[in-house]
Amino acid sequence: NQLKKYFGDSSSIFKRNKTVVKAVDGVSFKIGKGETFGLVGESGSGKSTIGRSILRLHSITSGEVKYNGYSLHHLPKQEMRNLRPKLQFIFQDPFSSLNPRLRIGDAIGEALLDHGLCSKTEVKSKVLEVLEICGLASYHYDRFPHEFSGGQRQRIGIARAIILEPDFIVADEPVSALDVSIQAQIINLFKELQKEKDITFLFISHDLSVVEHLCSKIGVLYLGSMMELASRDQLYGNPLHPYTKALLSAVPIPDPTLKRERIILKGDIPNPANPPKGCKFHTRCPLAQDICRVEVPEFREIEDQHYVACHLV
Ligand code: SF4
Ligand code: MG
Repeated sequence: NQLKKYFGDSSSIFKRNKTVVKAVDGVSFKIGKGETFGLVGESGSGKSTIGRSILRLHSITSGEVKYNGYSLHHLPKQEMRNLRPKLQFIFQDPFSSLNPRLRIGDAIGEALLDHGLCSKTEVKSKVLEVLEICGLASYHYDRFPHEFSGGQRQRIGIARAIILEPDFIVADEPVSALDVSIQAQIINLFKELQKEKDITFLFISHDLSVVEHLCSKIGVLYLGSMMELASRDQLYGNPLHPYTKALLSAVPIPDPTLKRERIILKGDIPNPANPPKGCKFHTRCPLAQDICRVEVPEFREIEDQHYVACHLV
């Protein structure tokens, strides 16, 4: 009754919350140690769900996430907690996860102390070290979140993640909210981290031009299913799925003598809770045939380590 007062008919809210929406379906991939894997798709494609599920920020109804031989979703809570520092998440908007009343130095050092990874006397020097790695001068230590620009906040988000010396980081659209010039700076920071540290990344983005600079392997998602999975060279040099081709056609090429024909997709992305039958992409695919409307295309290896789900490939 209390809830009814606030939310009107609360039963529909609960029902909606209890409905299981298949946000991700049959997606399987491996990320090698030290590799950066790019996961690309429009909003609603399930890429954040995958990133969060891997780190057990979401539960999953079936399937498995394996990390160094551990099945993460089957680990007891305490063991998962012990692993947490090794598995970090970088958010699109780090500001929303920063306590506005906590000085940046303390915010960055907090997790180290929480996990008992460092003594109170050591924490400041560790924080200053990661601030420097992330391109933030030491005088920022005593400042508050609101005093920073978007790019600086993302540097803070990255500093908070790497101070724990993680093995694996999921970065969920870490540059999407930034201006293009700032994007390039943050991408360079990621590149430096790739060079200096032995971190494995899952880099999530809706933008194939961002992923190209950072990722050695890329998966293209559409409505919770993997459409294409390939190395960077295969994907950019020989894209095979009509959806990948359409996404790539929107990426500007630096060389003006080379021309790419722009493929405009018709219509909007369908509701992920109720995806089209057959090939999920058929309502927007310029090449769709009758079979595409009824039969789900198999995700097949077309050439070495290059997988595609399309009846025509
Ligand atoms: Fe297009 Fe059919 Fe291939 Fe799907 S299976 S991508 S609808 S051609
Ligand atoms: Mg998202």
